Amino acid sequence: MNTTKLVIVVPCYNEEEVLHETTRQLSSVLHGMEQSGQIKEGCLMYVDDGSRDATWSLIEQLSENNPRVMGLKLAHNVGHQQALWAGLEWAATSRFDAIVSIDADLQDDVQAIIEMTGRFNEGIDIVYGVRKERKTDTFFKKHTAQAFYKLMQTMGGDIVYNHADFRLMSKRTLQALVSHPERNLFLRGMVRGLGYPSAFVYYDRHERFAGESKYPLSKMLNFAIDGITSFSVKPLRLITTFGIIFMLIAIGIIGYALYAHLTGHTIQGWTSLLISLWFIGGAILTAIGVIGEYIGKIYKEVKRRPRYFIEKEISR
Ligand code: UDP
Ligand code: MG
Repeated sequence: MNTTKLVIVVPCYNEEEVLHETTRQLSSVLHGMEQSGQIKEGCLMYVDDGSRDATWSLIEQLSENNPRVMGLKLAHNVGHQQALWAGLEWAATSRFDAIVSIDADLQDDVQAIIEMTGRFNEGIDIVYGVRKERKTDTFFKKHTAQAFYKLMQTMGGDIVYNHADFRLMSKRTLQALVSHPERNLFLRGMVRGLGYPSAFVYYDRHERFAGESKYPLSKMLNFAIDGITSFSVKPLRLITTFGIIFMLIAIGIIGYALYAHLTGHTIQGWTSLLISLWFIGGAILTAIGVIGEYIGKIYKEVKRRPRYFIEKEISR
């Protein structure tokens, strides 16, 4: 008989359409594991990320009828990563010793939690949920996501391929995680950096149960840029490399210009001027943009603003 106490942390933003089904499926998984003696107790912690629909009243209602259900209501929308963080920070000081994070939309296979818990009971600290294939994703989502993982890898961010935020963590790894003071969160990279014994569990990803993705292209792009800039300084080094290459080219061009001048060839020069003007202008702007990214990060970190405010809490 295991003494594991498991809590599943679920960030929710405008998820009124899925919460009933999510609760039903997750509760039944927890119930099954209690019956089989895999865990002693299993609960759910919904973090309402400032939803504008009935999500919070649903969580209240669910918690009245189902003793497993708990909730945190954030005072405003802070985004998936920060909302999840709120739940994890809560869990790090709770009585639970294994913490699973999963999205509310049932895209991740809830059955995989059973295998994750099995690994935890064997003494593994972090179990990553890894998606086998992207059959159910749209062509667009699949390719942008793959490009994202490739870009992350070449830019030096150590992340697990096809792993999002579906994972199990032991309490001690969670405490290590929440001791990170940074405000720019990229959880899958941060967890990877913790070390600790880890394992993978593979599953098929489903389609969203209901409602629509809260990650449109603009948010995905922001997420990718955040991911790279919070984990690596490679872009900065790239600028230096480009700068050196440009200087070498410039030396060549100076030599050519002097030669043309001395041999008396007048050059019309319009094309070359225009091209270099635009090209160098573009390169400088890009470089400034990249530096700006990091300065923006520093700015955010230096401010040390609170990540979120809890407006209400249901916990037991
Ligand atoms: N989410 C959140 N705050 C936000 C956006 C999303 O808490 O500002 C939650 C959302 O409710 C879901 C999870 O983050 O549980 C992942 O979002 P979604 O499924 O829309 O993203 P996708 O799977 O399309 O990448
Ligand atoms: Mg989803």
